[in-house]
Amino acid sequence: MHKTSWMTSDILSRLNANAGMLLVRSLWEYCPEHMFIVRVEGPADFIIEAMNPTRTAMLGDESAFVGKRIEQLLPPPMCHGVIANLSRCVECASPIRYEEKGGYIDCNGECQQGHWQTLLVPITNQEGFVTHLFGVSRDVSLLPEKPLSAYRDSKELERRVHERTAELVATNEHLTHLATHDHLTDIYNRRYLLELAELELRRASRYEQSLCLMMLDIDHFKEINDTDGHLVGDDALRSVARTILASVRECDLVGRYGGDEFIILMPETTADGAREIAERLRRTLTQTSPLTISIGIASLAPDDRFVVDLIHRADMLLLQAKRNGRNRIECIA
Ligand code: GH3
Ligand code: MG
Repeated sequence: MHKTSWMTSDILSRLNANAGMLLVRSLWEYCPEHMFIVRVEGPADFIIEAMNPTRTAMLGDESAFVGKRIEQLLPPPMCHGVIANLSRCVECASPIRYEEKGGYIDCNGECQQGHWQTLLVPITNQEGFVTHLFGVSRDVSLLPEKPLSAYRDSKELERRVHERTAELVATNEHLTHLATHDHLTDIYNRRYLLELAELELRRASRYEQSLCLMMLDIDHFKEINDTDGHLVGDDALRSVARTILASVRECDLVGRYGGDEFIILMPETTADGAREIAERLRRTLTQTSPLTISIGIASLAPDDRFVVDLIHRADMLLLQAKRNGRNRIECIA
């Protein structure tokens, strides 16, 4: 592989979640190129979600753009090319690079002509649908045109484009993983778990399917930290996460809610079914480690509108399990 790309992916793979987010934030804040994120609302329907300071400096106040459709910002002939390129990236679901010449309205409200080199990178959700597009544009109108002869041959150019695209795809996947997973246990982080859980709740309500949410907390976990140290505590958290993953189905969502608390969301599962899984999990942990856990299980009720409704009930039951002596499961059908 090309030396630079090896170094880039090697360094990125060593970043922890915080460093990864810091890197993205710094690029967003300080990169001299124009960056933007658009949300995919539907076919040929895009809404500006964010613009970096470089872009805001050229176009003016961010609030005039964020939340607006492309056709609300650019008059008809100008917006067509932009929408066509965004649609192309959604359709092929992989990064695309293109050059475009077109008009834009600057921060003084005046129409300007621009010449841009743009890279669009699709951002997909867990089901593989492109939900957002991340774009980086460079204003090349002030640069002298590079003669085609500057590229020794088109094969070389093609090779470099493929190499850079592969690097960006890998970086994108890595950053997406960092943003959605807990750095210690590598299961979903709280924010992403809740995002997925809301979708499951809507699906279950719409089709009147059963759904259970399990909240699990390690008993007397502080004592492990206090007597054996935090590294042993960290290992215990990883081992609980592994045991949970081994005990549930592939369609169940497993995430770290915080500290020593985990959430498992089980679609198409009744309270009885969830209790059985919880009991198996509790037994496996007590048989294979010195740990015990307490669990609260809530099942979807007709009035539940958001995941917090389920979390609240599961949390109350978990508290009851702790009060009733720990190492037990509380569940209301
Ligand atoms: P209880 O049975 O009532 O749950 O008692 P507990 O000692 O487990 O109490 P609690 O659940 O409140 O303790 C959570 C502890 O988890 C407190 C905090 O120091 C520790 N903790 C939180 N995050 C981490 C982490 O990432 N690593 C380690 N090692 N410890 C953590
Ligand atoms: Mg605990």
